[in-house]
Amino acid sequence: MWDPKQKGLRSVVRTLKGVATSDGAGVALTRVIGSPELDMLDPFLLLDEFRSDEPGDYIAGFPDHPHRGFETVTYLLAGRMRHEDNQGHAGVIETGGIQWMTAGRGIVHSEMPEQEDGLLWGFQLWVNLPADEKWVAPGYQEYPAAAIPREQRDEGVVIRVIAGETSLGNAGPVTGVSTQPQYLDVTLGNGATLAEPLALSHNAFLYVFEGAVGVRSDQGDGDAKVDAGSLAVLGTGEGVLISGAGANNRFLLVAGKQLKEPVARAGPFVMNTRQEVMDAFQDFREGRF
Ligand code: MN
Repeated sequence: MWDPKQKGLRSVVRTLKGVATSDGAGVALTRVIGSPELDMLDPFLLLDEFRSDEPGDYIAGFPDHPHRGFETVTYLLAGRMRHEDNQGHAGVIETGGIQWMTAGRGIVHSEMPEQEDGLLWGFQLWVNLPADEKWVAPGYQEYPAAAIPREQRDEGVVIRVIAGETSLGNAGPVTGVSTQPQYLDVTLGNGATLAEPLALSHNAFLYVFEGAVGVRSDQGDGDAKVDAGSLAVLGTGEGVLISGAGANNRFLLVAGKQLKEPVARAGPFVMNTRQEVMDAFQDFREGRF
């Protein structure tokens, strides 16, 4: 087990709330990364949370739209989403399931709620691809809840391991991604503490969606409190020490290798140059996806 006393801890360098917005055909959501406040956190381009039991907030869904140059990662906490692309791939993401979609050179797809009422709750994260992979064939890694390892640690620490490997050796089902992502869904009881190393090459954030947590500083000045609905960007260091501060606390802990490449983006296209983005719009208009 990683010993946080021996290593540099990653402190919170900033916290921010998401921005209420709508996307698709009128889905209400909270944009946490990809907003004016936080444009991106290399390699993460966008993080949306959608959470509503009002069908009017989600029923219109995300009809046919393109993507090129990156990956979209959909993780559902509650509800069902049907997706279908223009290359013959279709399926339903269900509660607790993950879809890691590599758009690569391009797909056109729809993402529609497979429900007419009840709670729809989840996240979509956009992960950039390095320049030499922006033209790969589209691909999917899709896993239902049962395929995601659940790591139970002592004293109220439970981790669902979606991508990457924990310090106890449990690996998530999503593999082969160049940014070597760590994507953990962590539940902490009140006072329970997660100590976990993170690769030095990686940017990392946590997004709290239930309760509150305290993130230990490397300056010995106590914990930075992060409440539900807040994103905390973590600084450099070898790992994190995070404690549950409410009765029940849950957050995403996500890290990915920085690409350090130029980013040119507009809407559903994320490339390296302005010209490549313009080409994407033209290719889409002229039916070349
Ligand atoms: Mn999409």
